[in-house]
Amino acid sequence: MNAFDLGKFENEAQEQWTHAFESNPSNLEKCYLTVAYPYPSGAMHVGHGRTYIVPDVIARFWRMQGRQVLYPMAFHVTGAPVIGISKRIAKKDPKTIHLYRDLYKVPQNVLDEFTDPLTIVRHFASEYKRVMTACGISIDWRRRFTTVDPTYSKFIEWQWKHLYEAGHVIKGAHPVRYCTVDDNPVGDHDLLEGDKAEVIKFTLVMFHLDDLFIPTATLRPETIYGVTNLWVNPNITYVRALVDGSAWIISREAAEKLALQDHTVEIQEEIAGRDLVDKTVSHPLCGEVPVLPADFVDPDMASGLVMSVPAHAPFDYIALRDLQHAGKYSQIKPVPLIKVEGYGEIPAQDAVEKAGITHQMDCRMEALTQEIYSAEFSRGKLFDRYGGKPVRVARDDVAARMIEQYASKIMYEFDTRPVVCRCGNKVKVKILHDQWFLKYSDPAWKKQVSDHLGDMVLVPPEVRLEFDRTVDWLKDWACTRRVGLGTRFPWDTTQLIEPLSDSTIYMAYYTIAHKIREIDCKLLSPEVFDYIFLGKESAELPEKKKLDAMRKEFLYWYPYNYRFSAKDLISNHLTFQLFHHVSIFPKDKLPQGMVVFGMGLLNGAKMSSSKGNVFLLEDAVSDFGADTVRMFLMGSAEPWQDFDWRNELVISTKKQIERFFNTVLESKDADGEPHDIDRWLMSRLQSHIERTTEALTNFQTRQALQEAYFGIETDLKWYRRRLAENSDGSRELHTFCSVWIRLLAPFIPFTGEHLWKELAGEGLVSFAPWPVANKKLINTRIELAEELISRTVEDIESIRKLIQMTPKSITISIAPAWKHEIFLLIAKSNDRNTVIKEIMKDDKMRKRGKEATDAAKQCTTLIHRLPPQVVEPLSREPINEKTVFEAAKIFLEKEFGVPVHITDAESSEHAKATTALPFKPAIIFE
Ligand SMILES: [Zn+2]
Repeated sequence: MNAFDLGKFENEAQEQWTHAFESNPSNLEKCYLTVAYPYPSGAMHVGHGRTYIVPDVIARFWRMQGRQVLYPMAFHVTGAPVIGISKRIAKKDPKTIHLYRDLYKVPQNVLDEFTDPLTIVRHFASEYKRVMTACGISIDWRRRFTTVDPTYSKFIEWQWKHLYEAGHVIKGAHPVRYCTVDDNPVGDHDLLEGDKAEVIKFTLVMFHLDDLFIPTATLRPETIYGVTNLWVNPNITYVRALVDGSAWIISREAAEKLALQDHTVEIQEEIAGRDLVDKTVSHPLCGEVPVLPADFVDPDMASGLVMSVPAHAPFDYIALRDLQHAGKYSQIKPVPLIKVEGYGEIPAQDAVEKAGITHQMDCRMEALTQEIYSAEFSRGKLFDRYGGKPVRVARDDVAARMIEQYASKIMYEFDTRPVVCRCGNKVKVKILHDQWFLKYSDPAWKKQVSDHLGDMVLVPPEVRLEFDRTVDWLKDWACTRRVGLGTRFPWDTTQLIEPLSDSTIYMAYYTIAHKIREIDCKLLSPEVFDYIFLGKESAELPEKKKLDAMRKEFLYWYPYNYRFSAKDLISNHLTFQLFHHVSIFPKDKLPQGMVVFGMGLLNGAKMSSSKGNVFLLEDAVSDFGADTVRMFLMGSAEPWQDFDWRNELVISTKKQIERFFNTVLESKDADGEPHDIDRWLMSRLQSHIERTTEALTNFQTRQALQEAYFGIETDLKWYRRRLAENSDGSRELHTFCSVWIRLLAPFIPFTGEHLWKELAGEGLVSFAPWPVANKKLINTRIELAEELISRTVEDIESIRKLIQMTPKSITISIAPAWKHEIFLLIAKSNDRNTVIKEIMKDDKMRKRGKEATDAAKQCTTLIHRLPPQVVEPLSREPINEKTVFEAAKIFLEKEFGVPVHITDAESSEHAKATTALPFKPAIIFE
């Protein structure tokens, strides 16, 4: 008995696939796709599943189209996270132990060895391979490597030699994200929270309080002329600290931060915030102002004190207004200093009142602040008494003057917070000296990348904007770390190359990864890689034959056709890899395309391993079957859209596969004679082939499944309904099933292989030829006839529901020829509004009078409702509706269980017959 058993299909296929997807250079057209390699520090969840299954579906599709496809995989183990994990496991940190033992299900004896970081990545790398294989991902595993393999390090050293020689590696002092617990700069991958936060340069405006400085941080130093007061948080404790020898009042957090930014900081004593309230401070550019209390002042934001410019900052305006409503500080008036078109004299007041905002907590405050900020920056001008310059210019002028004359300093801070390290510590901004950077700020390098981006295919196209923006904004990147795993930095071997900087051109390494192992690592000089990747000859190259074989692989596979990755990597990895490619490889070896993914949700919430909101891929496969997981992930959203995993929906996907399976088994051996309905089924199938192919060519996995599964299933249902009694269908069904299995094989390859064998298909379905639409089988007449019948059946059903009676007989009354004439004229017309006038110029029609104008209006409405693929062929040649219905008479009588009469509307005496329209006969119940 051939029961539906996904587990069985999986075992059968795995046996046949062991080496099936190993791919070598050949005479075929090559297609090379890659995905960002995983950092194997935990178990895979269904979100990871989609990342690797989308490219797999595309790889399988290309393979069936007769291309030589390379889909390799490796493991990125560079960096510090796994070291932190091993330390926490050694310390028996309960949260970490819970995550690894209970969520990731690591056996205790393995977990005990996780005190060694390399054991963790080795364990999960083999887990990844096992689970990816279980999901049917068609990878050439011979090319697998890890980024701490000695040969890979040789490759990275070669890469960096080129970057260095091109002047892209520089040393300097820069502000970077820093974790004081790890004593290390923090990369994107090392963050628990705040990966979007940027380091911003603030000016500290130094107010005097007696012999003390009170620094307030601002992005708008030019607004100093409009300061009416400072804000202090009365509920926190500030400190008096000696900063570079002078006494400042700042928050404790600010003292710690300043110490990381090239200042000597010595805390002397604590000062309660409330003791500062109502003090008078002064600045040469604004005179004396009072210090006012405000709960919203955040000690963890810059200096922990804020200057208030109520005329131009909505927050300041509302905070002051609130105090004044309580009857305090009524003498303070906003002091405007900038004129900006579109706003009144006091822009903040104007904007707040227009928006009807009544309190500080209104969620629109942030946007409003931003709006005024941009308006003033782009079109604002300072009042003449403050110099009259545009804000854009005045801002830098005032900042420079403050630094020169009024003791101002620079302070770096994040624009959004919190920014939290994987270790749980708050990340700060530190100025690193002797830090090595990749000079992504270099305009010439940026231009090379921009130029190449213009030649690339980006999917979906709207991500281009984000790439352009990233290239534009990218600043120098701290590229070394002191702690972690990875390749030693060649010019300072106490440092390591950080993870986002050793993962940029490894797609080229895949092409040789399985062969380079055959060469003694000591022989892998830069000249060897120069030969393999750049074709540079040099004397005394070792193992020339092996090198030639690798050069052949590289030349065959490279450049890669598409790189797949999640959209959050646009701002770093996906753009970095372009910088590195343009610097090292010749033009014909530069990346050709990228496909950018949306994110994964679990029951509506963002998936996150650290928060425990994940569903493990392995559990999904064992609960639902690999094909179910694949089909669900591919069908629930297009790759670039976010998808939402919900178990109840996954269950219905499994039922769909089972229906497909049973239908194929029931249909494949049918041996009846083909009739018109078979020609209809095969004709429809050709369009499904075309549309599935088109969708997959555009990476639209969801659209492809709509066609290849739902579109075909709907047709088949109609086909079965239309079969004569006692008929199981014709022998055409065998061909039909063969096509159907192949169209679905990229999505559900396990079921596909099983059914392919059932059908006695040649070889593996994974390599079977992709169906090609046969235009000769497309029969528009038959498709139109079936469309007419199915629409009429629907009409009859809805009338029956509406009038709630079972008729004694049904009469289908067909529209007269003159209505067909009108229909044709309207369908063909470019301007459907004036066509009625044209029609009525005809004598015959004019004689019909209102009858004709009514028919024309009804035809217009009908044509608007019908899909274009029906109207278009109908406007070329009408069909003989009477013949169509006569041929379907037996079917219709079977469907409705009563006699069915076909009549001409014109000869009918029934009043309803006059409503008959082309493609919409009148239906009369008796
Ligand atoms: Zn940390």
